[in-house]
Formats: sequence, C-alpha cells, structure tokens
Amino acid sequence: MARPERVAPGVYRVDAVGLSNSISVLLVEGDDGWTLVDTGVGGSPRRIREALISLGGRPEDLKRVYLTHHHIDHVGGLPEVRGWAPGAEVVASEHEAMIVSGERNPDRSSGAVFRLANRLMNLPTVPVDRVVDEGENVAGFRVLRTPGHTLGHTSLLRDEDGLLFTGDAFGAMVSRVKVGGLKAACTDPPLAKRSAEKILAEDFDTVVMTHGKPIHAGARRRLKEAADRCDYV
Ligand SMILES: [Zn+2]
Repeated sequence: MARPERVAPGVYRVDAVGLSNSISVLLVEGDDGWTLVDTGVGGSPRRIREALISLGGRPEDLKRVYLTHHHIDHVGGLPEVRGWAPGAEVVASEHEAMIVSGERNPDRSSGAVFRLANRLMNLPTVPVDRVVDEGENVAGFRVLRTPGHTLGHTSLLRDEDGLLFTGDAFGAMVSRVKVGGLKAACTDPPLAKRSAEKILAEDFDTVVMTHGKPIHAGARRRLKEAADRCDYV
C-alpha cells in the first residue's frame, strides 16, 4: 500500500513505485475535486488509486491529471489512470501536449544512454484536453514554464503557501539535488540551468521534486546550491 505523505494542506505525495522517494506524484484536493500531478510508470496507477481511496477520494471522480512533461516515468501510468478515471481532464503545456497526443516526436535527451532508452520505450499516446501556459492556474497552482529538461517542461507553484513542485526542473536522483535531475536526461541542459535560475527568482518555502525527498527546511538554499554547482554550458 502506498501511504500518501501530506506535504502541505490538501497536497499529498505518493510513491509511484515501491522504492520510497524515487518517483513521486502529487494528489491535490481542491474545491472542485482531486487533481493528480504526473502518473508515474506503468503499474503506478494501482498505487495512486489506493492512495486516493485512503484519502477519502473516489478514483472515478478524479477531476484532472496534470503532466509536467512527456518522459515515461511521468506519463507511463496515464492510460491506466484514464481507465479508472475516464472523466479526468488531461492538462499539459502545448509542446508536451503535442508529444503526449502523438502529434510530435519525443524530445531528444542530451545523453546517449537516455536517447537510446527513449527510443526503446514506447510512450503511450493519449489525447490532451487542455493546454496551459505560463501563469495559468491549475488546482490552485501557478504554471511556471521551466524548459530544458524537456522543451515544454513545466513546474507548479502555489503562491498561497509557497509550495513548489519542480517536476524534473530539479531532482535528487542519486543524492545531491541537481538541476534537471541528471544532465544526460535533459534535452537542453543550458536551458535547464536558466529555468533553475528563473525558479530561484520566485517565492517558495517547500519543495517537492519528482525524484528525491521533499525539502521542508532550507529549500531555497538547497536549490540555490544546486544551481550554483551547475556547470551546464
Ligand atoms: Zn524527465
């Protein structure tokens, strides 16, 4: 059973796979129902569904699914989620929506291993219902364009309490927080660095990344250190 971790009022982090904090998705409770942010990999939806039920939500009433970007560990669970939540609206930035809906090829990662992995992995193709851009509101969060990891990557910031969901704009895949998670996974590493600096110009207190533990104390300092260490050129 994937026990959801409350990271802020009405916001819960769910482990999308068995290894804790390796791939996280968010469940957000709003006035108009529940929003799922990213879907993990194939197999994750069973865990997400259980988590939602444990929080008192009804899976079939899931209101929307927000996708930060098209990588397989974020969209892999999408077909299965739509299976149990057929009414959920799928939301993403325009570039990511085109890829997720099969109108455009996936972005090329900068590292050869990731390029190969991307080719071997079959991304699911699912229609996207709503395209969002910088500044739009999704479930109480403001959309931040943070391209670089992928070209249409977005992060979410809830200004009300400074809760930032970076997606893969930052990530602690191994141990330390890095810009873009891993350089090799990024499509445009220097652009990922500029997006990291853009994020640092925002006000936030709590950081949740897809990969790595949530940061409750010293969040700004931790991200700043990662940006300062970042040598992507
Ligand atoms: Zn990614």
